[in-house]
Amino acid sequence: MEIKTKFMTRNDCYTAGRKIAPKGIMVHSTATPGVMAAGWFSRWNKSYKAGEINRQVCVHAFLDDKEVWQYLPWNHRGWHAGGDANNTHIGFEICEPGGFSYSGGSTMVGYDVKKHEAYFRAAFKNAVDLCVHLCRQYGLTEKDIISHAEGNKKGIASNHSDVGHWFPKHGESMDTFRTAVRKALVSESSTGDDGDFEVGDIVEIKASAGLYYPGGPAIPSWVKGSYHLITQTQSVGKPVVKGGKTCVLLGKKINKSNWEDSDGIMTWVDKDFINLISKGVKADTGTSEGKKLYRVQVGTFENKNNADALMTKLKKAGFDAYMKFE
Ligand SMILES: [Zn+2]
Repeated sequence: MEIKTKFMTRNDCYTAGRKIAPKGIMVHSTATPGVMAAGWFSRWNKSYKAGEINRQVCVHAFLDDKEVWQYLPWNHRGWHAGGDANNTHIGFEICEPGGFSYSGGSTMVGYDVKKHEAYFRAAFKNAVDLCVHLCRQYGLTEKDIISHAEGNKKGIASNHSDVGHWFPKHGESMDTFRTAVRKALVSESSTGDDGDFEVGDIVEIKASAGLYYPGGPAIPSWVKGSYHLITQTQSVGKPVVKGGKTCVLLGKKINKSNWEDSDGIMTWVDKDFINLISKGVKADTGTSEGKKLYRVQVGTFENKNNADALMTKLKKAGFDAYMKFE
């Protein structure tokens, strides 16, 4: 999942600059039909103090069926709950599709379930994916996820009905949402894929990346000209977060054509700004005629040229290498 980032630096919530240690996630929906995630930046990147907006409000992210936009660092105190949950919870808004209206608070009028089913499914999935990402980043589980309405019942949020006024129209609830998050967390921790970078992985920096992490130094172009080896993902047993983003350390440079390694840039980089080129070296056990064999996998590649280059390097180094395509 790609998270696009642009902080609402004009919003008083951003300039207040208070930090939190996230202990939960609060799910909201906008109650504003048809305004998508990108559209909220210009609406809310305004100062209440300066009289530019009539509400003191800011959330960490908005998402719709296509995009996730992060507007506050995750560890920044948001103004989304109207209660104590602001001190503990990351808050995000699911945008609602257009073509209906509200009457009497939270009653959706003219909402066509069939017409909006595809939108709902895609937005629901993006919300699940975002929660999985945040759970992994902050060591949370599905049990730490509540809706705004559930927060109100717990006495830590204002009296709103999101998302309970909407999810049931599509046969979902906060319970089915949490179940979907749990399933994704379990399946991802067993396969360890999907952006979950590990020490030993070879990566490249995305062409679109400008800074190493939000608020960090600019990335020179020569750094993008090499692959890099991840040499560290944690510090004192915890993920390393810079500018609100989980980072990994690029400790060795890898030449793109001959796969020779050399001194690394030794810089922490936002995980969202890198692409996986090859999973790291890992040993697994297989069985052959009752005997246990240890097989060492050196890399997995999408591009055959990269695989060939590494094969050549291994054979030069005296290894009896073979390639498997699956
Ligand atoms: Zn809400």
